[in-house]
Amino acid sequence: MSDRFPIFGSPAYIPCGNCPAGQMHSQHVTYFTWLGDQLITVPDFPAWVCDVCGRREYDPRALNQLSLILAPNAGKSTRKHSLPRRANPKRKGSRSTPAG
Ligand SMILES: [Zn+2]
Repeated sequence: MSDRFPIFGSPAYIPCGNCPAGQMHSQHVTYFTWLGDQLITVPDFPAWVCDVCGRREYDPRALNQLSLILAPNAGKSTRKHSLPRRANPKRKGSRSTPAG
């Protein structure tokens, strides 16, 4: 898996996919998303913003972390109930060996 996004905050930039000359730099923006019918705003969200056309792409790592925060049940496997084993308390009688 190749990630075209460098580490956020590094001086690196990525070429803009929207315009030929633009460079996308790391900036903090306000992220908006809908959670059900509730609008969530996340200030200081890491994003890559083109200095020419203004195109912005949110940092995929930050998006991934945010999705974990907003949907804590995502990715969890449903727990299966297993019946408890029935312990058998019955003991077999100990054999008595005939002595002598
Ligand atoms: Zn651009």
